[in-house]
Amino acid sequence: MSEKRTVYLDNNATTMVDPEVVKAMLPYFTEYYGNASSMHDLAIEPARAVAEARHKIAEYVGAEYDSEIIFTSCATESDSTAIYSAIECNPEKREIITTPVEHPAILRVLDHLEEDRGYKITKLHVDSKGRLDLDEYKKALNSNVALVTCMWANNETGNIYPVTEMAHLAHEQGIMFHSDGVQAMGKVDMDLKSTDIDMLSFSGHKLHAPKGIGVFYLKRSCRFRPFLRGGHQESGRRAGTENVPYIVGLGKACELSGQHVGYMRSEIKRLRDRLEQGILAKVPDCFVTGDPDNRSANTSNIAFQFVEGEGILLKLNEYGICASSGSACTSGSLDPSHVMKAMGIPFTAAHGTIRFSLSRFTTEADIDYTVEKVPEIIAELRSFSPYWRKDGSGGSESFDPNYGQGKGAEFKK
Ligand code: PLP
Repeated sequence: MSEKRTVYLDNNATTMVDPEVVKAMLPYFTEYYGNASSMHDLAIEPARAVAEARHKIAEYVGAEYDSEIIFTSCATESDSTAIYSAIECNPEKREIITTPVEHPAILRVLDHLEEDRGYKITKLHVDSKGRLDLDEYKKALNSNVALVTCMWANNETGNIYPVTEMAHLAHEQGIMFHSDGVQAMGKVDMDLKSTDIDMLSFSGHKLHAPKGIGVFYLKRSCRFRPFLRGGHQESGRRAGTENVPYIVGLGKACELSGQHVGYMRSEIKRLRDRLEQGILAKVPDCFVTGDPDNRSANTSNIAFQFVEGEGILLKLNEYGICASSGSACTSGSLDPSHVMKAMGIPFTAAHGTIRFSLSRFTTEADIDYTVEKVPEIIAELRSFSPYWRKDGSGGSESFDPNYGQGKGAEFKK
């Protein structure tokens, strides 16, 4: 039996701030605390540092101009900026195309536009692996579309979407294209200048910078209307005093992330695969969701049949293992996640999905400890499940396929 330890496998939720990032930020809280937009000497270093960070980030994403990088407070703000800018720039166009697997930072805004402002929101279909059908997409494009917004990588499954090709197809019809790139940063190669992506959102806290800093990339050729109006910061495109320490931190985080892309691809993928293979070999009736051929190297979303994700998370937590479940239990309904639903994952499995997400700080010992604990946890939880055969040979044949559907109260916690 190994010692209890803390194993952080929830890096798609947020990441540890890299100590080198903290070190880079500290002088901008105390020594160089001036307002970067002021007209005195204490503004000189903050303004220089903001410009340097903007340059590093532009290089990191392959932007053509540094000025295409606009600092925001988070990716949620960047996503809203993209959507509201597109509809204000194209008031005569009344449709937006998206996918059903976007983050709520996109989907809730589009729900609002549909319900309260009469927009047509077209959600493309995904198959059981979460993949899009580009033929369906091509047919959906039309002259009434103000914006296409599609995430680059999915936060639950890690699936990578063909946004470069989709942006090109949108541009052929004069349609603006936005991508939520939050989960793609540091995991896929980006060279935005060689793509037709007009707008891209991302967030510092997913790549070892602090929470509370985001980026909105805006291609110079793309028309734009600001979301936050006020002061003249960010060339009038995003009002609000520049958050200098956090901007510096994000610049440093991007620099470091750029240096680790190869490591993420090889070593983190090796650890992720070790985790998956270890669990799949020891736990019956579980499977990895998402696109096996095209997903980010750090993410593994495993569906455990006939157990509840919440129960698994609590048990994992007892052993010091931090992960996430796909179900939203906020309303007491324990509904499976919208991503699992869109993929048509059977609810017996969708309720028991757990997302393990690694970072460059994840070690082999973390993975081996998790592989040791997960089978014990699942076996214990299944031993209490009325729908699990007592001989442990698989799901009960008397399993009621309507169990719990729309009736969350029946799930005893
Ligand atoms: N988009 C995706 C794909 C995400 O995973 C997240 C955060 O989990 C967000 C947007 C929101 O990011 P933020 O917390 O910076 O607003």
